[in-house]
Amino acid sequence: MTALLEVNNLCASYRGNRVLHGLDLRIETASIVTLLGANGAGKTTTLRALCHMVDSAGEVRFNGENISRLPTEKIVRLGIAHVPDGRGTFTGLSAEENLQLGSYVRKDKAEVALDRERVYAYFPRLKERRKQQAGTLSGGEQQMLAIGRALMLRPKLLLLDEPSFGLAPLVVQEIFEIMRLIREKEGMSILLVEQNAAIALELADYAYLIETGRLVLSGESGEVKRNDAVRRSYLGE
Ligand code: ATP
Repeated sequence: MTALLEVNNLCASYRGNRVLHGLDLRIETASIVTLLGANGAGKTTTLRALCHMVDSAGEVRFNGENISRLPTEKIVRLGIAHVPDGRGTFTGLSAEENLQLGSYVRKDKAEVALDRERVYAYFPRLKERRKQQAGTLSGGEQQMLAIGRALMLRPKLLLLDEPSFGLAPLVVQEIFEIMRLIREKEGMSILLVEQNAAIALELADYAYLIETGRLVLSGESGEVKRNDAVRRSYLGE
């Protein structure tokens, strides 16, 4: 069966310096996949390469279509939404205006309003704070807003870069529970980049581990969790 995303031999470079050296990845519909690795392993670059935001080579098939040469804007329209590290919220705009920006490529305004309510149902705190400037929201609320904004695109695949970064463990738990619910209700797939391997492996069905731009291990999350090297180097056991 065709996977939602199928990546073969993905390479990426910054100013001629290659940092990804031929990754093969596969993401099924309605699955959560995590990409693990140490600082500088190439996780963020992988997400950028999938959206063609960096100089890249290799084949990226989304729903069977080769998207590797398409501009980022087209890739977004096809249904891949990227929540970058640092979240990228517009701090001077209200929470609701940020959500509105998330739907800028859509013309179906009535549906957009329904989707906004859908986002508020997942993140009731955003509804309470919808008039508040995004810059004054807590870190957790800003992460929720960044995810909510991506959901406004009705993506089939959500690329999440370090959503746990800088957040208290309870807030991370809350956000990850909501991600689980979103996958269940929307049938959406998620590619989750995390340094916090323990929580990522709890949420994900499948995991890939990269080191210096190369894939070193992959498997069902339960299996990866039991791997000795992973336990020592990434789970601190
Ligand atoms: P982290 O968790 O620290 O973000 P990462 O696994 O996401 O790490 P990347 O940010 O993808 O790693 O970085 C992979 C390699 O590419 C690193 O050697 C990094 O120094 C380099 N790199 C990342 N961004 C740039 C850039 N804009 N210009 C030049 N080199 C970069």
